Amino acid sequence: MLVTLLPILITNFLTWHSYQEVMRNLVVERNSNLAKEIASDINWMVIEKIRAFKIIGESQDIQSMDPARQAIVLKKIAQEYPDVQLAVISDAGGRQIARWDGKPADAGINYTDRKYYQQVIETGKTVISDVLIAKSTNKLGIVIATPIKGAKQELLGLLIINLELDKLIRHLGETKIGDTGYAYVVNSEGKIIIHPDSGLVVNGMDVSQLVPVKAATSGQTGWTEYEYNGQRRLAGFSCVPSTEWGVIAQQPLDEAMRPVTEVKKSGLLITVGAAIIAMCIGLIIAGALSRPIIDISQAANALARGELQGEIKVRAQDEIGQLAANFNNMVTQLVKRDEAIRESEGKYHSLVDNLSVGIYRATESLTDCFIQANPAMARIFQYNSVDEFLKVPLCLLFQNRADFKKLIGEIKQNGYVKNKEILIYRMDESVAWCSFTVTAQYTEQGSICWLDGVVEDISERKQGEELLRRAHDELESQVTERTRELVRLNEALKQTSLLDGLTGIANRRYFDEFFEREWQQAQTEKRPIAMIMLDVDFFKSYNDTYGHLAGDKCLQLIADVLKNVEKDVARLAARYGGEEFAIILPNTDWKQAASHGEKIRTQVENLGILHDQSAISPVVTVSLGVACMIPKKEAQGNELIIAADKALYMAKQAGRNCMQIAGI
Ligand code: GH3
Ligand code: MG
Ligand code: MG
Repeated sequence: MLVTLLPILITNFLTWHSYQEVMRNLVVERNSNLAKEIASDINWMVIEKIRAFKIIGESQDIQSMDPARQAIVLKKIAQEYPDVQLAVISDAGGRQIARWDGKPADAGINYTDRKYYQQVIETGKTVISDVLIAKSTNKLGIVIATPIKGAKQELLGLLIINLELDKLIRHLGETKIGDTGYAYVVNSEGKIIIHPDSGLVVNGMDVSQLVPVKAATSGQTGWTEYEYNGQRRLAGFSCVPSTEWGVIAQQPLDEAMRPVTEVKKSGLLITVGAAIIAMCIGLIIAGALSRPIIDISQAANALARGELQGEIKVRAQDEIGQLAANFNNMVTQLVKRDEAIRESEGKYHSLVDNLSVGIYRATESLTDCFIQANPAMARIFQYNSVDEFLKVPLCLLFQNRADFKKLIGEIKQNGYVKNKEILIYRMDESVAWCSFTVTAQYTEQGSICWLDGVVEDISERKQGEELLRRAHDELESQVTERTRELVRLNEALKQTSLLDGLTGIANRRYFDEFFEREWQQAQTEKRPIAMIMLDVDFFKSYNDTYGHLAGDKCLQLIADVLKNVEKDVARLAARYGGEEFAIILPNTDWKQAASHGEKIRTQVENLGILHDQSAISPVVTVSLGVACMIPKKEAQGNELIIAADKALYMAKQAGRNCMQIAGI
């Protein structure tokens, strides 16, 4: 449309412009010519009259005629000029001496009081009066007074012509310029003297300020554009040389340019019509052309928004139709691919979302949040949703930052970590153990862009392990305790088997084992070993007297003496059998043994256990036999026992309650 309309508009504009110029020039030229013509006519009219009448006035023949004849001649001449209303001749003194209307001159009429008379006398030149209304005819006219000079240029009189302007005014009135344009004449002072509207002439309206009037009255000829009564006007002006009047032929600009305006209007109408037609045709063509493109464009926009439905109508088999068909094919392919992706995504999501292990993507910065995570990840950290979880920076999720940094350090070094156990903070600030398996993903430049990982909540396993560890520890302590108990029991059992049940000191078995060991030791080390054999005196009668239980009690009291006497002396006291006891003293000579034996004898006696039936003492007493030897290599342990036993026998023989030392 623009392409169509722009040249039309430019052409129109240029046409209007040049037409306007031409029109203007035409109007200017016409008005100027008209003004010139009118000025020329007036000039001619005045000059002709002056010249004709002046010739007559200065004619000697006329001057010499008698007044009656003179009047007839003048009348004849005046009849040649119908616009001459009156023509008279005065003498130099202003008295009428001849007149054109055939009447005899009236010497009584004197012109000396007339303004033009005085001007002619003063200047000696032709004078033209202002426009006046003739008293006799009541018509507008001017008076032309010109001097009549003699042969020597002396003033003989004045020729006075009263020129009627009615014809001129009528002519001007008929001289229409367009509908409202007209021509008018101003005098040298710029007052209207001839105008189609005679009322203006009578008033002598002053238009001296108008541009064309100023120019014309200053003797110029030409044209101008000016404003009058709020209207622009085009005026041609010219000067009447004989009278110094100005002639202005003017026309309102609007009117003068009306043909241009008409052409403009019709041009505009044609342009608008053409525009409307062009627009309609353009719209129809554009619609037909653009519909398929719009279809494709809308479909492409829908596609860009992710809407993959609807086919484009293929309207033609041209290139655009082909494009639409290809587009439809493309959409079909995309729909298929979209479905495949959805299906694949669905599988992936159902897999990832239903996994019990957490899957995530993160950066290596503790201040960042996880970039991606599956629902299990949020569950492990006990957040309500993945979105909520993805807003939490990593530093708030790891209990020990050092662990995390160590983890990152390992990933940087190896590119991955496997089953790294780390303590995490859950949403409720409780702590849980998680196992992290992380793989670094690298940029093309080789730097780590993110970390992909799998997280498993191993809290339960850890708890199980803890329980197992505790159970194991407990079991171990129980086993230790049991073992200790067993050892104790075994010890007790051993003690039981080695101790005498009644007295609590070593029994005969223990005595034999101990003596065997010590004997060999003494034999090896060649050290002395002593033995004391002890027997309760008259114990049979004690039992008989006090009963067997009292006898047992008595044996226990004597055993206590053996246990407690000289505790610092290394020895083993044992119940040898019945009411007999034996004491082994390793690394002891006979003196030390005798001293020890004597202390035993004394302390038993000092127990003060009453024994009424004893033949030697009121209390229970004991007899002791002491033997000591450094066993020889080939010596038998029996030798010492026999020697001690012999010494005991000797003590019995010696009266009891005494000790005998074996002489070995
Ligand atoms: P002596 O040695 O002074 O020559 O006279 P005795 O009466 O002590 O000697 P005998 O060998 O004849 O008596 C030993 C007695 O010791 C016999 C026995 O009844 C008693 N006897 C042995 N073993 C026990 C025991 O375990 N308990 C009690 N109550 N008496 C016992
Ligand atoms: Mg005995
Ligand atoms: Mg005895």
